[in-house]
Amino acid sequence: MTKNPVQENNTLQGIAVSPGIIIGKARLIDRSKAKISYQYLISEQQTQQEVKRFKDALHTTKEQIMVLKNRMPEQIKEHAFILDTHLMIIDDRMLTESTIHSILEEKINAEWALKKSVQKIRQLFEQIDYEYIRDRINDVENVAERILRNLAGKGHESLASIEERVIIVAHDLSPGDTSELNTAKVLGFITDVGGRTSHTAIMAQALKIPAVVGLESVSHQVQDGMLLIVDGYQGIVIIGPDDDVIIEYEEKRSKHEIYRATILQMGHLPAETLDGHRIAVKANIELLEEVETARDYGAEGIGLYRTEFLYLMSKGIPDEEMLFSDYKEVAEKIFPAPVTIRTLDLGGDKFPVNHEPTKEVNPALGLRAIRYCLKEPEIFKNQLRAILRASVFGRIQLMFPMISGLPELLESKRIIKEVMGDLEDKNIQFDRDIRIGVMIEVPSAVTTADILAEHVDFFSIGTNDLIQYALAIDRINEHVAFMYQPYHPAVIRMIQQVVKAAKDAKITVSLCGEMAGDPFCASLLLAMGIDELSMNAWAIPLLKKVIRSISKADADADLTAIMKLKTAKEVQHFIKKRMEDLIPDLKDKDFFIKNAMNFSVH
Ligand code: PEP
Ligand code: MG
Repeated sequence: MTKNPVQENNTLQGIAVSPGIIIGKARLIDRSKAKISYQYLISEQQTQQEVKRFKDALHTTKEQIMVLKNRMPEQIKEHAFILDTHLMIIDDRMLTESTIHSILEEKINAEWALKKSVQKIRQLFEQIDYEYIRDRINDVENVAERILRNLAGKGHESLASIEERVIIVAHDLSPGDTSELNTAKVLGFITDVGGRTSHTAIMAQALKIPAVVGLESVSHQVQDGMLLIVDGYQGIVIIGPDDDVIIEYEEKRSKHEIYRATILQMGHLPAETLDGHRIAVKANIELLEEVETARDYGAEGIGLYRTEFLYLMSKGIPDEEMLFSDYKEVAEKIFPAPVTIRTLDLGGDKFPVNHEPTKEVNPALGLRAIRYCLKEPEIFKNQLRAILRASVFGRIQLMFPMISGLPELLESKRIIKEVMGDLEDKNIQFDRDIRIGVMIEVPSAVTTADILAEHVDFFSIGTNDLIQYALAIDRINEHVAFMYQPYHPAVIRMIQQVVKAAKDAKITVSLCGEMAGDPFCASLLLAMGIDELSMNAWAIPLLKKVIRSISKADADADLTAIMKLKTAKEVQHFIKKRMEDLIPDLKDKDFFIKNAMNFSVH
């Protein structure tokens, strides 16, 4: 394809996947798709030979990936599982057997057959709602691309030999490519394709090099040696910047670096008010791999481990061993801090493959979370056994989502007792005093919080759902999103009621919905008596900064004033003004949050 004429300050918007600003020369890498213009039919006699050619290419591909894995630098060794996933893809029946089947049955060449298999897999993945899983198609395509290159005898240019200070520009890079980069030299990379949660993105973060993906045609617009600016915070790439733009970005870079340092430092200070009132600040995670990031941002534990991911990833219900080793590792990694594992919140629109029940008209009000687990006790027990077995390897507590009344809670506890009995019979160790809690996210649980409190060790308020159910606003419906109001007096009163019930029963009360990480809400929640806040890890530093800048006495006075306000708008206005007066940094909140969010120390 012919290159576009060079124009100054040509700005492209892509997806920021690894933070940082770099200015440097481009180095184009040929990672265009191996051209397989030849799609041809073969004769019956040629089929076996074609299958052999395909199997040889699989073998070569496997060997190449093994070599990459063995050479992986120490710094990113913990991400070796990504290359293991690629090895598993080579062995996956959907890819290999279906290709061999097409060669034999349709009598077509291996490249064509492989492309057809990838297309089928892509169609399946496109139907998946969960972004992280949907993006796994990138791994399948990376592997298929390598196989195609080996079929074409094209080989793979190794990136290990790049010794200049350059910015890599490619159509696509596989995690294997990325793992080979000499990060002492390579400044960062940009690609045409790729997504936010691709494994290549994870690798870039692990290597701490800025990266922007999804730029569509950057590899056709850039020529070797061109000057580039890559803004890994905003996902912007500027081709051929002029002097003014270079100066502007140099300034941005130093501003970001100052923020980076502040963030790191602040995250590790205690969340203590000026008058000595302390609150625990923890992180919400969905994946084992997030534990380290949580710790780096200053999390004092995992306040919510959402456990649906392994269920959505596997073909059936994941076996107990797999769950056990995942929970054990989380508990060990965060130890001596605790982790709160939430039992399955499947249902609604999230079901494991092969377990999808009939479609519901109102999935958010349907067979979800604890309701689903109580209807499928074997699935529930499988998870509880894994959690209990893992409980001796760290400080685990568990909680049930979507409890709507006492009978559900008692039934859940009865099942735990049953599982404990089984483990005892088999002489399997577990923490007999494991702390058990409930999420308060349904209005009926709020109004019966005093009743529930007698049977649990803690509450965790899930405001994401509580707001949706209290205000009758679907949390994922953009048409009513403007009415989804954390500052609604109804929400504030509900939180207060839950805190009161918890205090009366002398149990801990935490809050783990998005509201926990909203720096404007910190003072309000503190005054209400919340003991711990659990949030996205990146929100922790700013939240700690807010708490460290206010006094409990002032927060209490504000709360009294807020409780007299009548609408969400009034509350929001009051809080915004107060907080911005106290902490001028909050005026620049978006900048701060964007940076914190995109700043991964891993
Ligand atoms: C909540 O509802 O606030 C919560 C934390 O749970 P989730 O967002 O996983 O539903
Ligand atoms: Mg919830």
